Amino acid sequence: MSTGTGTAPGAAPQPAGSDDLSLAVAVLTSPELAKIVDLAAWVDAGWLYVANADGSARLPVTDPDGPWEIRFGRNPLASQDPMRGVPLAAALADPSPPNERDAYPFAGSRLLSAFGDATRSPDLIVVHTPRHYWPERGGHLGEHGSLNAGQSRAPLVLSGPGVRVRGLRPGVARIIDVAPTLATLAGVTLPGAEGTPLTQLAGPGARHVVGLLWDGANSNDLLHLAQTGELPNVARLLAEGAALTGGAIAEFPSVTLTNHTSALTGVGPGRHGILHNVYFDRATGRQVIVNDVKTWHAACEQLRDGVETLFEAVARQRPDAVSACVNEPVDRGAHYSTFGLVRAAGNTGGAGDMGDYLPPAEGDVHASARWVQESSDYAWSTRVDALGLAQVVQLWAPGTTPPDVMWWNTTVTDTGHHGGGPYSEQSRAALRDADARLGSFLDLLAERGLLAETAILLTADHGSEAADPADPACRGDWGDALRAAGVRFRDEGYGFLYLGESVLAGLTPEAK
Ligand SMILES: [Zn+2]
Repeated sequence: MSTGTGTAPGAAPQPAGSDDLSLAVAVLTSPELAKIVDLAAWVDAGWLYVANADGSARLPVTDPDGPWEIRFGRNPLASQDPMRGVPLAAALADPSPPNERDAYPFAGSRLLSAFGDATRSPDLIVVHTPRHYWPERGGHLGEHGSLNAGQSRAPLVLSGPGVRVRGLRPGVARIIDVAPTLATLAGVTLPGAEGTPLTQLAGPGARHVVGLLWDGANSNDLLHLAQTGELPNVARLLAEGAALTGGAIAEFPSVTLTNHTSALTGVGPGRHGILHNVYFDRATGRQVIVNDVKTWHAACEQLRDGVETLFEAVARQRPDAVSACVNEPVDRGAHYSTFGLVRAAGNTGGAGDMGDYLPPAEGDVHASARWVQESSDYAWSTRVDALGLAQVVQLWAPGTTPPDVMWWNTTVTDTGHHGGGPYSEQSRAALRDADARLGSFLDLLAERGLLAETAILLTADHGSEAADPADPACRGDWGDALRAAGVRFRDEGYGFLYLGESVLAGLTPEAK
């Protein structure tokens, strides 16, 4: 089987590692790995290629939204319907679907962004099937990271002054639209953004602008629970605003740090440089780990030149405005920042050394006592989020001048969705906890008479989809098959393959 390497007319000389590329694609698209490989993707000689065991297609890199040219078999990205699996009933009717029934919104532009960094992008991307379950490598019952609609879909709710529409609106946005939208609400622009402000939904008019990121929150379930009375404070937002039923589609890979960065800069990973939670940089020959308790405070050091954060855009255009960034690593330019405090403390372990400052999880009135007791991850995230709420309460306390722009990141939602999978008792407990903390904030705004002056956007960084622990064929790694075939590679974050002898030096790959 041809990989397409060097097949285009006038193709440049074959890059180093192209033998590894051909070999790797042949291995990854073999029927033996079809249960765990949703698709492989690579760029060569001006074309973006995708392939799996059922077929292959390609697209000119100059036309990411154009039609795919089928090379053989079936196009693995045949459907790009962004509304696939919306609403909750549709997702439950066909959960974590196989490739032929799945959809891959904005697939061309999202994949090309992941290949867009000169030294950090991988040579070959491998995407796990949605059902893949990998507990021995830190995998969970609920997963994200893939290109498909389910794992990429975050919620998108807008509320308060300046929001022009009400209720549930059919439609979809992108995570790269979040920063330009918040900028517009705050009366500034983000000229370098690849996303666009959601001006059909909202415009300027608020004195205060707040962005909420509930990490890993499933959009369908969030809207369902808000409608059925389980999330009364999301319902309060909806009463004064609107939600897109298709939410906001994450950049690829649909992982945390890549999409926190996209949400706050309005650009994809190929521009902002945070390619994955873990990636390899050929320029330094080093593995870079950005999504870790020890490194969150330093994440912004990895931002590429020319990238502007929402906070920097506000500071540049409204020098008198005050911005705050709570529990969020992508904080460059914010006047107040949790991770700014971590940096100032100068501990070598970053936030990992700040445990003494975290409130206890036991007895937290906003937390599910059951899950705090049953899961140490849940208890830790509860402590982090309690500190987040404490900062928010301090920033907005009576007698203070509240921030003009605030971003507030919530962690327990990701923990709950990983731990139990979406729609589980644990994920729903986490959503209720986040809702309760939101309620405390909304009550504080009401007490100060600021509710009618504050626009609020609620989103996430990615979605959550259920793995299938019952299917033994949906487990394991492609690494052994690649090694057996003699492919020289390193696999970062799982699925970012850097090929050739030169990448094998350096540090050990780590789990996402
Ligand atoms: Zn996340």
